Amino acid sequence: MSKSLQAIRGMNDILPEQTPLWRHFEGTVARLLDNYGYKQIRMPIVEFTELFKRSIGEVTDIVEKEMYTFDDRNGDSLTLRPEGTAACVRAVLEHGITGGGQVQKLWYVGPMFRHERPQKGRYRQFHQIGLEVFNLDGPDIDAELIVLTWRLWGELGIRDAVKLELNSLGTSESRGRYREALVAFLSTHLDKLDEDSQRRLKTNPLRVLDTKNADTQAILTDAPKMADYLDEESRLHFEGLKARLDAVGIPYVINPKLVRGLDYYSKTVFEWVTDKLGAQGTVCAGGRYDGLVEQMGGKPTPGVGFAMGIERLVLMLETLEQIPEEISRQVDVYLCAFGEAAELAGLALAERVRDQLPNLRLQVNAGAGSFKSQFKKADKSGALYALILGDDEMAQQVVGFKPLRGQGEQQSIAWDALAAHLATCIVQG
Ligand code: ATP
Ligand code: MG
Repeated sequence: MSKSLQAIRGMNDILPEQTPLWRHFEGTVARLLDNYGYKQIRMPIVEFTELFKRSIGEVTDIVEKEMYTFDDRNGDSLTLRPEGTAACVRAVLEHGITGGGQVQKLWYVGPMFRHERPQKGRYRQFHQIGLEVFNLDGPDIDAELIVLTWRLWGELGIRDAVKLELNSLGTSESRGRYREALVAFLSTHLDKLDEDSQRRLKTNPLRVLDTKNADTQAILTDAPKMADYLDEESRLHFEGLKARLDAVGIPYVINPKLVRGLDYYSKTVFEWVTDKLGAQGTVCAGGRYDGLVEQMGGKPTPGVGFAMGIERLVLMLETLEQIPEEISRQVDVYLCAFGEAAELAGLALAERVRDQLPNLRLQVNAGAGSFKSQFKKADKSGALYALILGDDEMAQQVVGFKPLRGQGEQQSIAWDALAAHLATCIVQG
């Protein structure tokens, strides 16, 4: 017997029973971003490997061990995108749409790929919605990014379950001075650091702050704090951000150890975290990356953005049971027809009704079947009403209109009056 084919570990199908919640989530985000003036951009899923090495940084978990990299038939090294910012920056540079200081407020959605250990909330193909803003350097836009996610949590009904953590990494100069102080401090404790941190101390010392090792964390308690090394400009920027969050009433905690996994951040960094998902607690993360565009060959261009993990947020909606009732019902009306003549008339009638009520979710029975079997399917579909076309109805040019959820008796409705009748019975989204 041949081995049955399976999906790749950590790469999931999103089944029909799950997609309504995904669409609810994605639809809510898309509408909100439209309202805040963000425009969607779509980038390819595959890019030259070099792009990610240059933007994310060679000494990061992603580039060191998480990328899906392969040679294509031309011998070019390509990589399935592990995140969206790099490709987005490449795209705006390639098309010159941030030139001359043009502001761009962009968003994207799609699959990302990282070779990690699959577990709840952590997959090898996962989905993000990301935002990137170019050519705005003030704290007002950093605040807007946070304010709109705060609104999103409110609309989704999960606001009480997430917490905002903030930090500032300063400009590259002040971060440089801090890095020196941190390295000096950690070097005096070298033998007590875990192996990973010893290595990072040489390659990317700020990442030691990110360690999950308890002993190293204990040593870090007395380590120098970035806040004490912040330059005046970054300090004012951070104050400006906090003042705006206070003005809207968004609570936050300052987390001096928040450095983010990617190399390119500067000034503001933030994460929205939850304790509802176990170990995979970060649902949305981002920050400012004023040096990145230049590092990738463009003119100096301030940038700020974030990405949220759709799987984790959908899991949260499920865990907190924030699933709107209307998304579970996907059929309003189910049409049953008995015999070939009725089937033909039913099809034509359904199309006329759809012309008049374009938002009506009308399902026409397919596969014929007895009265009993069609009725069973109508009921199972979740429809509120069944329409019935049999010999009697055909003779009188009416349909039987039968409430399926216990509101009233069956009636006969003339074909010409059907759309108007449905319009009064069904509240359309
Ligand atoms: P983590 O610390 O959880 O690995 P990260 O810092 O690597 O996260 P980012 O690169 O900032 O994550 O991605 C932004 C968001 O994308 C994360 O906050 C998370 O919600 C989601 N995400 C990242 N990696 C995964 C993954 N492997 N599976 C599912 N979601 C993910
Ligand atoms: Mg990660």
